[in-house]
Amino acid sequence: MAGRAIIGAGARRRRYAIDCCDPVDMPDQDLILHPYVLGLWLGDGSSIMNHISLHEEDAEIVGHLRACGVEAEFRLPHWRKGRLANVVIDPTFRMRREDGASLADCFRSRFVTRLRQLDVLDNKHVPLAYMRASRWQRLELVRGLMDSDGTITPDGKRCEFSNADRGLVDAMVDLLRGLGYKPAIYHGRSRRKVFGRDGRATTSAEYWRVSWTAYAEEPMFRLSRKRARMRSIESGRPWKSRRRRIVAIRPVPSVPVRCIEVDSPSHLFLCGKGWIPTHNTEAGNNWIGFVIHHAPGPMLAVQPTVELAKRNSRQRIDPLIDESPELRERVKPARSRDAGNTMLSKEFAGGILIMTGANSAVGLRSTPARYIFLDEVDAYPASADEEGDPVTLAEARSLTFAHRRKVFLVSTPTIRGLSRIEREFEASDQRRYFVPCPHCDAMQWLKFDRLRWQTGRPETAEYLCEGCERPIAEHHKTRMLERGEWRATATATDPLTVGYHLSALYSPVGWLSWARIARAHEAARGSDEAMRAFRNTILGETWMETGEAPDWQRLADRREAWTPGTVPERGLFLTAGADVQKDRIEVDVWAWGRGLESWLVDHLVLEGGPGDPACWQQLTDLLGRTWTHASGQRMTLARLAIDTGYETSAVYAWSRQVGFAQVAPVKGVEGFSRTSPVTGPTYVDATVAGKRLRRGARLWTVATSTFKAETYRFLRQDRPTREEQAAGALCPPGTIHLPDWADGEWLKQLTAEQLVTVRTKRGFARLEWQKLRERNEALDTRVYARAAAWILGADRWPEARGPIWKRSSGWRSRTGLSPVQRRHHPPQPERRRAGARCARAT
Ligand SMILES: [Zn+2]
Repeated sequence: MAGRAIIGAGARRRRYAIDCCDPVDMPDQDLILHPYVLGLWLGDGSSIMNHISLHEEDAEIVGHLRACGVEAEFRLPHWRKGRLANVVIDPTFRMRREDGASLADCFRSRFVTRLRQLDVLDNKHVPLAYMRASRWQRLELVRGLMDSDGTITPDGKRCEFSNADRGLVDAMVDLLRGLGYKPAIYHGRSRRKVFGRDGRATTSAEYWRVSWTAYAEEPMFRLSRKRARMRSIESGRPWKSRRRRIVAIRPVPSVPVRCIEVDSPSHLFLCGKGWIPTHNTEAGNNWIGFVIHHAPGPMLAVQPTVELAKRNSRQRIDPLIDESPELRERVKPARSRDAGNTMLSKEFAGGILIMTGANSAVGLRSTPARYIFLDEVDAYPASADEEGDPVTLAEARSLTFAHRRKVFLVSTPTIRGLSRIEREFEASDQRRYFVPCPHCDAMQWLKFDRLRWQTGRPETAEYLCEGCERPIAEHHKTRMLERGEWRATATATDPLTVGYHLSALYSPVGWLSWARIARAHEAARGSDEAMRAFRNTILGETWMETGEAPDWQRLADRREAWTPGTVPERGLFLTAGADVQKDRIEVDVWAWGRGLESWLVDHLVLEGGPGDPACWQQLTDLLGRTWTHASGQRMTLARLAIDTGYETSAVYAWSRQVGFAQVAPVKGVEGFSRTSPVTGPTYVDATVAGKRLRRGARLWTVATSTFKAETYRFLRQDRPTREEQAAGALCPPGTIHLPDWADGEWLKQLTAEQLVTVRTKRGFARLEWQKLRERNEALDTRVYARAAAWILGADRWPEARGPIWKRSSGWRSRTGLSPVQRRHHPPQPERRRAGARCARAT
């Protein structure tokens, strides 16, 4: 039922994909209104009564409605505009007067009564019973929505659903995923009038478009004119639309606890974000339910970002409360007007649940809390709004509760020495789940190196018992798991700290099998990145970063020849990193292509330093300068990131003067964050011409370790030979191209640091970058230029989108994306496609 993980080891192109989930089957629900009828009304119905407006050609709708058990009447009102017609459902009570003066009866029809019972009147949404209905019921709901607000592209390839109501859009996406489709969501602003929830036109129209591939074999419509355009599955390539490409691998089990209770494991398994298997968070959410029900008190639940906290609230917490009567009666209903129940706070008798993100110091400081749930702590930024480690900030909120407090941390681990969860686990009593051998009863916890299979034949995977060395087969697992128990394997530094670790080797039969784990391991061989993902997500273990600097001599041998100061063909936009030194400012200009492939385009040393106005003038001039692309077009810098570590106020003053559209002042911090290596901007005070301006400048914070490690990883990558490239072989994503004019000094600067493991006073291993030589400007400017690419959203553009982006964003664009657009689409791996499309819309 969960998607099969396919980690394909294509020769050079790494491809990760999982199958979309098969349609989720649930029992038929006893629904008081046919789902098609509800869908049609949700799409085009008046939000307060039984009228649905539609195109005059679609009179056949009446027949469909009757087939669904409601009476319906087709009308062409004399007051109508254009070719709009009207369908009245269940017209038991007729309007008494032609002029419509007495509409009261419309509100009394049985249909309206049912809408009221469903609580959708003046509150359009898909009720939970419909979201969890059987497959055909959900499909009928989709058809209703599609017959009203849906279209199909003229070539019949893509179905599309547009709506201005975010709630309906989210519901549609959930429904489609549960039916096994792969919808993409695009956000836009329309200049045309769009009808809002109240049926009135709103001018600043924000809308969302959901698009997916479907075939005539499972029609998305009942309306014949739309249905007729659908293609047969034989004319398409269905496997493409049935697979999800993995863009980031993060939340997978590592520390679930035993108290998870569900009637069927499969429900839990898929009822997560976007129906993608995950259940770490679920343990914490169940704890939230327990607190509300049995042990009320103030509780703080922290996700990596505020945006994720909102999503978690909408997709997990709201259904959790809605679905359990015990919780529903304790939490104020979401629609009540007072502030007791909002997106990020839920009041209940004896307590309150506050949800926030680790990137918000304000949120973390908001309230004292007896219970603290910290989810995916390895994805937290190094610092929350400059105020320090988010975990420390959050934990400080519980100190007033002394011994009654409880803090729960969960995460998929990341990098050895930087992983918070690993640090915490090592300080705990390190419980592992011990299971008995079916042959000799020896109790043991499962380790990956005892999984054996014949090379190239992962299906032969078996587990070798530690006691008797006899092979244990997959089917023994069920019985072993039943008889297992948690045992501590260490003495905790703090006797009150309990830690649990569980890897995917324990997946119950029918989930991730040992054979698939073996296959995943074979596929990941030879690639650092894939092996890291395997260790982190399947074994729940940290990855040891090889932080060795690449050999500069080897880089020198790999330099390439192209005209100095020009941008090679695959380069799509330019960023620069500027490093301020006492007597000069060094600037490197990098071109970026698909998949973060990059080229060093220019290296400039502006003499004078921050005390010299002429030096700043040279930097200003640089913003207007252009470089020639291989196609002949001229390109300016999309963004220049400048270090604020030295002569901070001078940098702020200059940045303010030239504006923040093209310039990003950055501050490097120690630390590692794969999900949000750049945070901000925050507003900082600036002094311009002796005058202090409150919040006059912007500042981005860069976790430099992330980009240093990435740069070295990219530099170490193998690439096709010149002959292979001539034959059409592509460089792997991330390839760094260095020009032949890059001299030995520059290359030595680029490779000036290495990652070393040091022991802290408390005995924890910690990773640290150490300089191997004094000068390292080339590495610093590279990291800043890389951060600028991140700020522009490059990490969220799927590989394939390059050329389209290029065409519409217009070269010579000095600003790249507008800040407004980015604020609407903070980095979220799951929404990567949507973000990409918006980037194009700018
Ligand atoms: Zn044994």
